[in-house]
Amino acid sequence: MDLPVDEWKSYILQKWSLLPKSIQVTISTAKTLNDLFLHSSPLLQPEDEMFLKRLSGGYLVGKDPDASLFYREKGNKKFQEKDYMGATVLYSKGVSHSGPSSTDMSLCYANRSAALFHLGQYETCLKDIVRAQTHGYPERLQPKLLLRKAECLVTLGRPQEASQTISDLESNFAAKATLSASQFQILQRTLCRVKVKVQEKENLPEIFPEALTKTFEGVDLREENEQIPSASSSVSLHIDPLKGRYLVATKDILPGELLVKEDAFVSVLNPGEMPPRRHGLESKWDTQVTNGDLHCHRCLRRTLAPVPCDGCSYAKYCSQACMQQAWDRYHSVECSLGALLLTLGVFCHVALRSALLARFEDVDKVIKKLCGEMSNQGICLPESRDPAQILKYDLRGEGEKKDKAVETPIPGCDINGKYERNYNAVFHLLPHTENHSPEHKFLCALSVSALCRQLEAAGLQAFTTDLKPTKLKAAETPVLCAELNVWGVAMLRHMLQLQCNAQAITTIQQTGSKENLITDTQQVRLATALFPVVSLLNHSCSPNTSVSFFGTIATVRASQLIRRGQEIFHCYGPHESRMGVAERRQKLRSQYFFDCNCPPCDRERQRPSAGPGREAFRCHRCRALLQGDDVLSCGGPACTESLGRGLLVSRLQDLQRQVGVAQKRLRNGRLELAIQLLLECQSDAESFLSADHSVVGEIEDTLAQAYAALGDWEKSATHLQESLRVVEVHHGPSSVEMGHELFKLAQVFFNGCAIPEALNTIQKAEKVLLVHYGPWNDEIRELQKMKSCLLDLLPIPGGPKE
Ligand SMILES: [Zn+2]
Ligand SMILES: [Zn+2]
Ligand SMILES: [Zn+2]
Ligand SMILES: [Zn+2]
Repeated sequence: MDLPVDEWKSYILQKWSLLPKSIQVTISTAKTLNDLFLHSSPLLQPEDEMFLKRLSGGYLVGKDPDASLFYREKGNKKFQEKDYMGATVLYSKGVSHSGPSSTDMSLCYANRSAALFHLGQYETCLKDIVRAQTHGYPERLQPKLLLRKAECLVTLGRPQEASQTISDLESNFAAKATLSASQFQILQRTLCRVKVKVQEKENLPEIFPEALTKTFEGVDLREENEQIPSASSSVSLHIDPLKGRYLVATKDILPGELLVKEDAFVSVLNPGEMPPRRHGLESKWDTQVTNGDLHCHRCLRRTLAPVPCDGCSYAKYCSQACMQQAWDRYHSVECSLGALLLTLGVFCHVALRSALLARFEDVDKVIKKLCGEMSNQGICLPESRDPAQILKYDLRGEGEKKDKAVETPIPGCDINGKYERNYNAVFHLLPHTENHSPEHKFLCALSVSALCRQLEAAGLQAFTTDLKPTKLKAAETPVLCAELNVWGVAMLRHMLQLQCNAQAITTIQQTGSKENLITDTQQVRLATALFPVVSLLNHSCSPNTSVSFFGTIATVRASQLIRRGQEIFHCYGPHESRMGVAERRQKLRSQYFFDCNCPPCDRERQRPSAGPGREAFRCHRCRALLQGDDVLSCGGPACTESLGRGLLVSRLQDLQRQVGVAQKRLRNGRLELAIQLLLECQSDAESFLSADHSVVGEIEDTLAQAYAALGDWEKSATHLQESLRVVEVHHGPSSVEMGHELFKLAQVFFNGCAIPEALNTIQKAEKVLLVHYGPWNDEIRELQKMKSCLLDLLPIPGGPKE
């Protein structure tokens, strides 16, 4: 998904292997990205471009009226089955394939408004009704739409507007006798009902996403940092020859304090797990729900009623305003390149968009920097590990006088030592050119070249419009025009940077079937982004912060007490509670090119065989923990049991498979069978796994879900408490994992009407989740709702006096 599709990857790797040795050497030893690009780019032949074009041809990214009809019919089917959520998504797909102002489009919008109505999304429903009308909704169907509008307005507590709609509707009936007698009767009856409701309802408060957004935007850093915008004044920026740039606490920081709140410089929505490639006709149109169906292409906010780009079917937005902004800033260039960008992967897309966004800054300066650094080879300097070079490295031009504010110039800062959240900062994120393999660099260079050729061929004045051409004409090359060449090098740089600097924007998605009353959540990747300030944080396998997202905004909060002078860390992925030290080291080395020296890594390095650990096996005879590497022996007194590791590992794998089968049964609603199998798994686990083993926790958690689905809240709570115990051992009492598990337990107590237990658990869950997410988090809001509901049920202390 990040890198180009496998077919293109292997095609380019094959091409590389067939290159003459001398050319391979030239490319491998290229001193600068400029050289790398200039030597690689001419090697992209027309037949390579043809091959790429064939690959891209598999993506349906244009409009297709047949697809619109197909999705609308599929949506109608879901609607009849009362799966309104499923219907909404299919109507959205239908909308995105319809041409602007077509009957197809208006019908899809109108049908979607009906599904939204059933989902209780009245505000959004009203918007879709307006959209249906502006795109030419057929006259004869208007009454149905107006009636829905009136019902929405009534429910929203807007009686005046509802009355107005009703009188419009009545005059509409009077004017046109387009309805059959029976239809007319139904409408009349509904009208009466609506009129009664208008009188009944006055003001009904409802919380809309807009309100939530406002709450979030109101949450601010206590005091903004003068040197680093978007960061709090509790941190300061430092540089060190070994660590690079990093942030340090300037005062004691309490858990939950907001340290960074930063909007992404660039973000690209991930198309989803399975790229929508088509082979054969039967699977021509995909009905699978993807990120792009539920989230705005620009701001990433969740939306049930997206509006599509006029030119393509893959970009959908939360609003007209978002669509316009995206168009002005980058989509006018990207719109026709959708299939190519899906083929070349998200990194390539982020690289292009970064370059497109750079046009809105001081382009002259950016270009000068690009050209200047390429010509004097300075483009490689910031990644040098030589301390002397880092200290010498200075962004200021020759003629500029020294400024006292910058004693140690830090890459990415302006002449006043201020770190700007702009293209300059993005440009200075390290590409680690020397660490990537020559093959990988060749793949990136050719992918970017292909993109540049396409930009050129499409006659897109992508980069040229805002540029002053005179400055660059001298360096023109026969292959690409010079400006595009400059941007090609910049895009290549971004592609290489992304491996270490890309931040995955994640969201918590609720999983599980509709019958499941307790929500199970899963973290999913929504987008790939660059955050210049968040990128300043170094990695630790046991970080002292927690990162969460709201749309394209990242927030970093202290997850524990951070003392003045301590470094601020976040985790790049390999977390101590989820991965063993060997796996972490391998991952950090191959993806991020460094050896981790965080406290847990140091600890484990110093005494690598320190006991059996949490994921230990235990003796089936005396239940003591087994110890050892290939052959494990019992640690119990007077027990001589010993077993080969292979045997135990395969037994564990069998168990995990069984748990998987049980989870599948649970999803399919075969609850009794699921429970039966899980209880077997539980006793099997007990016979050879330590009580703290994560699989033991998983079994308990699944059992809790199954009992909750049966409505047996007491049993559910008992198992959830066991799962909670395991989560605490693995992740710690104030971890985000603990918060999610406490949230589930609170739901179970709530549903089981165990009021004191529920209130107690709600309080604990709230406390943990607040530290990681801050107050606007969905789960926290849910907890607060549960709390106020429970407090209403409690007798007033002292009781009412006579
Ligand atoms: Zn949006
Ligand atoms: Zn488009
Ligand atoms: Zn580490
Ligand atoms: Zn034993």
